[in-house]
Amino acid sequence: MSFDTLGLAEPIARSLTEEGYSAPTPIQAAAIPHVMAGRDLIGIAQTGTGKTAAFALPILNHLGNSLKRPALKSCRVLVLSPTRELSAQIVDSFKTYGRHLRLSVGLAIGGVPIGKQIRALHHGVDVLVATPGRLLDLAQTRAIDLSQVGILVLDEADRMLDMGFINDIRKVIGMLPKKRQTLLFSATMPAEIAKLASEMLVDPATVSVTPPASTAERVTQRAIHLDRREKPSTLAGLLRDPAIDRAIVFTRTKHGADKVVRGLAGAGIDSAAIHGNKSQGQRERALAAFRDGKVRTLVATDIAARGIDVDGVSHVINYDLPNVAESYVHRIGRTARAGKDGIAISLVAEDEVAYLRDIEKLIRAAVPAEGDVPERVTAKPRASQPQRGQRQRQQGAPKANGQKAGGHKAEGRNGGGQKADGRKPGENRRNGRAGGGRGRNERAAHRNPGTSNGNDIGAVAFMASPVRGR
Ligand code: AMP
Repeated sequence: MSFDTLGLAEPIARSLTEEGYSAPTPIQAAAIPHVMAGRDLIGIAQTGTGKTAAFALPILNHLGNSLKRPALKSCRVLVLSPTRELSAQIVDSFKTYGRHLRLSVGLAIGGVPIGKQIRALHHGVDVLVATPGRLLDLAQTRAIDLSQVGILVLDEADRMLDMGFINDIRKVIGMLPKKRQTLLFSATMPAEIAKLASEMLVDPATVSVTPPASTAERVTQRAIHLDRREKPSTLAGLLRDPAIDRAIVFTRTKHGADKVVRGLAGAGIDSAAIHGNKSQGQRERALAAFRDGKVRTLVATDIAARGIDVDGVSHVINYDLPNVAESYVHRIGRTARAGKDGIAISLVAEDEVAYLRDIEKLIRAAVPAEGDVPERVTAKPRASQPQRGQRQRQQGAPKANGQKAGGHKAEGRNGGGQKADGRKPGENRRNGRAGGGRGRNERAAHRNPGTSNGNDIGAVAFMASPVRGR
């Protein structure tokens, strides 16, 4: 199938040619006709399948075809996404594909000053991409009126559920017109998301591509069984391999990520950490250094890495195994993109073997093992299996080496750390202003507004290029 058969307007088709896209990906081919026909849609697809363009292209087509301008303090399309990084990337996609249209796209995320966003929203925007918490802040201070939203996109709905955003989402939906088009994208379809979908979508078309397990098939995987104490030196040894172009090292906690960066620095290896305790400016700078090849190793938590789209990641190293098997699939999906090969290496301590077994069940394959696999570990390390969504709130594997249990929680809105959209637990949303501790980060983000992809994070970014060829 070619893009021509989809009937996208010429300015959009032109930007796709400029981007070097020759044909729609399967999710695009399946979803775009339904969205263009105005239907509600459930898209089951994960990052890397081209799902962003699957909704951005038909939405841009719709906006480009209508002469309506957004009213003051309103938006015509609302995209909700779980993380700041993913939100910035979605804005970037709208800007890229819509560069030949005269449309405006705004970004409303936490962790940066709200004032600039309030001012930027004053004249209204065509597309607003937001994390749920900051959007509610803006709605409650009447900086944005959501009653004009014609299209709602919920991206990575399962991750929003995991991060505890479901109530915020319900609140946002209560502010939207009942008559609207709704598109929901999710990598998996847990019962709670299916329920939400049945409440908020009307007669949706469902399209599904690449079940999560299949990503794993494109990646060469290895598990190294070792004593937990050997992890720092093993990691340093692995990273000295010149075959590594770019590596993402995953840890389960923010504290763990910082500790790995410090340990690697001690071994003479440069790396950068990206997690929810870092300011937006720090995160963007780390990501830019990684993208530009200035730093070969990025150390990340699952949530911070979600949605990161960096080409040419040759290796993913699981310094800690995730206690949610699906996270493993998301992690290793950071490599082997755009048809390239990828290598995923997991450092498995004895108390993580049960997690590896969960992962192998999910991907329906054994991960080739090196080292002595402890035979006696067959039972799960936890007494009962928590429900999905609760899992990230719970401590994962029991700590080895006398580490204090419960010392550092897995990152997430309910994980006790910084909220994914920048608010700290207990921070008053109504107030709309951060507590004292955030000022420094906000100023840092303010001084460094640029991102690797050129977005003005924290402000509403406008696509000002004139309509050509329309
Ligand atoms: P996503 O799943 O939206 O995160 O997209 C993953 C990557 O695929 C992004 O880098 C896009 O730029 C790229 N992409 C999306 N659609 C296409 C296409 N039709 N042809 C080639 N690359 C694409």
